[in-house]
Amino acid sequence: MNEPMIVFDHVRKDYGKVNVIKDLNFHVKNGEKVTIIGPSGSGKSTVLRILMTLTDISDGVIWVDGEPLWHERRGDNLVPAGERHLRQMRTQMGMVFQHFNLFPHMSVLRNLTEAPRVVLGLSRREAHERAEELLEMVGLQEHAKKFPGQLSGGQQQRVGIARALAMRPRIMLFDEPTSALDPEIVEEVLTVIRQLAHEHDLTMLMVTHEMRFASEISDRVCFFDDGNICEEGPPEKIFNNPEEERTRQFLSAVL
Ligand code: ADP
Ligand code: MG
Repeated sequence: MNEPMIVFDHVRKDYGKVNVIKDLNFHVKNGEKVTIIGPSGSGKSTVLRILMTLTDISDGVIWVDGEPLWHERRGDNLVPAGERHLRQMRTQMGMVFQHFNLFPHMSVLRNLTEAPRVVLGLSRREAHERAEELLEMVGLQEHAKKFPGQLSGGQQQRVGIARALAMRPRIMLFDEPTSALDPEIVEEVLTVIRQLAHEHDLTMLMVTHEMRFASEISDRVCFFDDGNICEEGPPEKIFNNPEEERTRQFLSAVL
């Protein structure tokens, strides 16, 4: 897992006049599991949204598996990416959101089959087989015909994870996947994510406040502060022996 799957090269992101991501240089290796922690407003979600191509960048270049994400090659130059290139790049990534973001008017099954059919061109049967396998994996095969509103938060989030996986992405992005859940159902979602973390080929980038979980599944933890990485390293180092004062302050406030 030595070649980088994701590279941020001097990336800046402004919202209007507000500079939210500051000259970010960041690599994630193929198959690596990386957790981003940090205070609210530090830019963690923005990093994931940029990767998922939900929001653009103001400067710099991002590479995904050697291909520019927000740019396209034209001869030796990089030019801003067109919608077609973005769509193609997006299919390599799946994202799980804090508030699930399921399609409320579609059944659980259709939530899982819609994008594989429309974007990947899978047949109805292929998409259904894939969806049923995934629903079994997240323990929801009995709920295929229900609508999101009929499920608990933990069940909805497991559908969210299955939906992202239905595209067979190489990269999974998780933005605080358990923050909207009641404490007693957090674990059922963490169990599913833990299982994914054992898949060596899958590159995972997760924002979470579940520090114990982060330390258990991550190869590397990045502490984000004020639009950039303040400190990063193996979980043992970041959680037990951080070097930066800001990291220490943050951890003493949340642990
Ligand atoms: P985090 O996920 O670490 O809490 P975010 O990435 O959501 O932080 O936000 C970083 C900063 O960018 C915050 O100051 C937030 O208010 C601002 N921001 C996020 N999204 C937008 C937006 N769509 N328009 C304007 N400002 C935004
Ligand atoms: Mg956020």
